[in-house]
Amino acid sequence: MLDVRGLRKVYDGHGRQVEAVRDLTFTLEPGDLTCLVGPSGCGKTTLLKCIAGLLTPSGGEVLLDGARVTGPRPGMAVVFQEYGRSLFPWMRVRENVELPLKQKKSLSKQRRRELVEDALDAVGLSEAGTAYPWQLSGGMQQRVAIARALAYEPEVLLMDEPFAAVDAQTRAGLEDLVRRLWRDRGMTILFVTHDIDEAVYLGQRVVTLSASPTVVQDQLTVDLPDERDQLHTRSDPRFVELRTHVYEQIQNARPGGGPAVSPAAS
Ligand code: ADP
Ligand code: MG
Repeated sequence: MLDVRGLRKVYDGHGRQVEAVRDLTFTLEPGDLTCLVGPSGCGKTTLLKCIAGLLTPSGGEVLLDGARVTGPRPGMAVVFQEYGRSLFPWMRVRENVELPLKQKKSLSKQRRRELVEDALDAVGLSEAGTAYPWQLSGGMQQRVAIARALAYEPEVLLMDEPFAAVDAQTRAGLEDLVRRLWRDRGMTILFVTHDIDEAVYLGQRVVTLSASPTVVQDQLTVDLPDERDQLHTRSDPRFVELRTHVYEQIQNARPGGGPAVSPAAS
């Protein structure tokens, strides 16, 4: 469904070139919940923006259902890390969620309203529709951003470290919300995080990235039961094995996927 092939991105700023992403290839099948994990600055946001059609790759390509992505596509929605900046403060919650739907000309006003109410309900915010974003806590604002993406009914939902700025309790709740929505709605989700535990807890699959210039370091199938909960899953010996594996991969990751340099040789 989503094909990333040999993706490369070089930023060109003031005559200085930064090779953020060197060579990324991976595939998402319909209904996948895949987590991408990699160190800060390794190009996760760059990758997501290329997939969403918001940035043009320097090399390689992104295919959605076989068609090359060259600009924002109706089948994709993104939840950004900086939710504080992604909601319009002068619009009520309901209007924020409804806004992108107005681009879908085929939807009647009535249908738009239904989608908005369903999405707010799904994230537990049916009561907050008439509030302004700044009247809500960080966790609630992020749920509004998730509701906005859900209402849009994307084929692929891209999430860029969406919970990095909320407290641990809220974060656990939002993680469970993502798994529940994935199971109920059968969406395809690509979830980006720098948090190894979060990646293993959430994902059916974890793709580990090297440090920048970035390549795929490792791909892992998470063979934990679909039924997950914060307490039991995280203390499951298999969970601990899997997180240790990913941790080692990140420890061993070399920029550009080059060979590890042994202390004696350096
Ligand atoms: P991550 O999301 O994994 O933290 P980013 O994709 O934000 O990483 O950044 C990857 C690398 O690209 C970093 O070295 C960053 O400094 C650089 N970078 C990101 N955006 C730009 C830009 N607009 N111009 C130049 N360099 C950039
Ligand atoms: Mg980022």
